Amino acid sequence: MLNKYLKDINNCTNEEIYYALLEMVQEMAEKKEVNNSKKKLYYISAEFLIGKLLSNNLINLGIYDEVKEYLAANGKNLSEIEELEPEPSLGNGGLGRLAACFLDSIATLRLNGDGIGLNYHYGLFKQVFKNNMQTEEPNAWIEEHGWLKKTDKSYEVKFKDFTVTSRLYDIDVTGYQNKTNKLHLFDVESVDESIVEEGISFNKEDITKNLTLFLYPDDGDEAGRLLRIYQQYFMVSNGARLILDECEAKGCNLYDLPEYAVIQINDTHPTMVIPELIRLLVERGIEMDDAIDIVTRTCAYTNHTILSEALEKWPMHYLKKVVPQLIPIIEVLDNKIRRKYRNEAVNIIDEQERVHMAHIDIHYGFSVNGVAALHTDILKENELNHFYQLYPEKFNNKTNGITFRRWLLYSNPELAAYISSLIGEGYKKDARELEKLCAFAEDDTVLEKILEIKAEKKKALKEYLKNTQNMEINENSIFDIQIKRLHEYKRQQMNVLYLIHKYLEIKAGKKPSTPITAIFGAKAAPAYTIAQDIIHLILCMQEIVNKDPEVSPYLNIFMVENYNVTNAEKLIPACDVSEQISLASKEASGTGNMKFMLNGAVTLGTEDGANVEIHQLVGDKNIYVFGDSSAEVIERYKRGDYSAKYYYDTDEDIKSAIDFITSDIIMKVGNKERLERLKNELISKDWFMTLPDFKSYVKKKEEVFKDYENRKSWAKKMLINISKAGYFSSDRTIEEYNRDIWKL
Ligand SMILES: *Cc1c(COP(=O)(O)O)cnc(C)c1O
Repeated sequence: MLNKYLKDINNCTNEEIYYALLEMVQEMAEKKEVNNSKKKLYYISAEFLIGKLLSNNLINLGIYDEVKEYLAANGKNLSEIEELEPEPSLGNGGLGRLAACFLDSIATLRLNGDGIGLNYHYGLFKQVFKNNMQTEEPNAWIEEHGWLKKTDKSYEVKFKDFTVTSRLYDIDVTGYQNKTNKLHLFDVESVDESIVEEGISFNKEDITKNLTLFLYPDDGDEAGRLLRIYQQYFMVSNGARLILDECEAKGCNLYDLPEYAVIQINDTHPTMVIPELIRLLVERGIEMDDAIDIVTRTCAYTNHTILSEALEKWPMHYLKKVVPQLIPIIEVLDNKIRRKYRNEAVNIIDEQERVHMAHIDIHYGFSVNGVAALHTDILKENELNHFYQLYPEKFNNKTNGITFRRWLLYSNPELAAYISSLIGEGYKKDARELEKLCAFAEDDTVLEKILEIKAEKKKALKEYLKNTQNMEINENSIFDIQIKRLHEYKRQQMNVLYLIHKYLEIKAGKKPSTPITAIFGAKAAPAYTIAQDIIHLILCMQEIVNKDPEVSPYLNIFMVENYNVTNAEKLIPACDVSEQISLASKEASGTGNMKFMLNGAVTLGTEDGANVEIHQLVGDKNIYVFGDSSAEVIERYKRGDYSAKYYYDTDEDIKSAIDFITSDIIMKVGNKERLERLKNELISKDWFMTLPDFKSYVKKKEEVFKDYENRKSWAKKMLINISKAGYFSSDRTIEEYNRDIWKL
């Protein structure tokens, strides 16, 4: 088989081998059976953070080891070949990565389901650090020979003032030892990459050229906000027509649509699929009321956040400028609700003439799910309580999951092989079998070996960071890692305040007995000033701490540039302490927490999102929990009496850490405006309540570092975490979606 594609391998360059493997995988994927069941799932999402595909496909096709060995026998190295593959830049963070894990599990479980999204040419952006600050560049990833396959599908998409022609590209999604599905990515034929000027700036009004250049273009001005609406409508109008075409091709009369299609709306970005489908059904001769009923029985909505600024509300006058054809339908949808419920809180159009996208999803979809038990409870009891009163039967929880193919078998083959040697291969298909590892919790040989594998992965990360980021990390230190999008609710600022505190302690002569390496990775939205300021502070501290000969033997700080899936795959297996420190009630679920646990890191976290479920599974001894509970936090917001200043004034440690932000030492390497703004923000606002949790965070972290020194008891915590991670397989999550919502 391999000989056919890799003729004369000895004379091939790595690049030639990469293209040969790509072609081979694509042909194998095409030959795989597709599931043609009557009913099909369409997972619509603005993001699919799929990561590199070569190795994942080789694993899922069952030929990874064979290819690797064949290459090695001929003096070639698969990891070097992998490096040539650009990471597709189609997502932003957890929500997009979840969509990617779901596609993997849907294919693995032989379900009939495709993804629908957009083909962004430059993705979110590529993060480059300059002068201890983030700068943004286009993240080009599309190559002439790549995973995208141009199809003959194309639609005319009408906006108010003009029409664009779309083009569908497909990426094959292989399941583990199983069928393939498709990720459908729509592009606009007239897109023009050359309009991007300095950094990531471009003419936001030239829609025919800019429509699919960037994910989440800056919405700081009206042109940017309108562009987001253009993108959203373009995605769902293409998606809706593809869905109707496929159903009609199967002989569906459109009244029976819910028997042929179920549409999972991933967050509010694809919400316009509801009015658009209604519009298309009416256009095809169905009465408005019937069309509304048909669509309501076809669509289901996943909520990913309770942050009100993240729940989209589009002004009517924006929608009128972009998609006037949807206005009469949105008005009908709103009127029905007004007549039926007479409760302003559940209206679709509010008194400021803004359209609440989530409200459309909830009224005109048949299912509303949260993504972790705590998150769903908060939706029911607080944020969406008015809706829960109306439709208790629509609400359900689907705790997130991750694909173990990528986050264990691929990223940590050493650990996977050792697990197989202990409990067999069954866990690869049924992740709950990992529980069998509990039997080895007192087995010294096993605990030793787990520590050995961790040490090996730490060395591998050291090499990787040396080669890719020119960083020198100490493999004999504790690796304490916080990698996730930069957001105040995730509280990277609390971690960096701790590091300032630690730095001051070391300067005062109080040295940790095991050295600590704190690693960050995070992109901040270009328009999110405070997030950029926090990155700046981390980078300044990196320079100060690592260059100080008194401090650097005990403490180092590294911020990895351009955090993405490829980096995550190297960082996670090497982690000792997983930082999951969001303000309780604010992190819907988290999935990073699950990847770390699966790789034997111990969580230091608040009782938030899926951390709560991790805690229940591993028990008090195998996780470090601190901070105010979600109930206390929600109460404090309701009272509205939080004063950051009080904590600053009354706590010496907090005061000295915060004051350090504008000290001469930092000012020498930093930007005065950014540092002063951040300090002021922490003292006078601190909306995500860093300071009330700071003391308990410091205390817990000291406990973690002390416990780490007892290597055997630490190894036992690692083992218990791995053994309880099975619940967080996305295969389990997808089985639940199918059982309760999709019913394929
Ligand atoms: C898993 C993952 C995330 C989500 O991380 P959280 O800690 O859950 O926010 C974000 N980005 C990348 C690249 C990931 O792999």
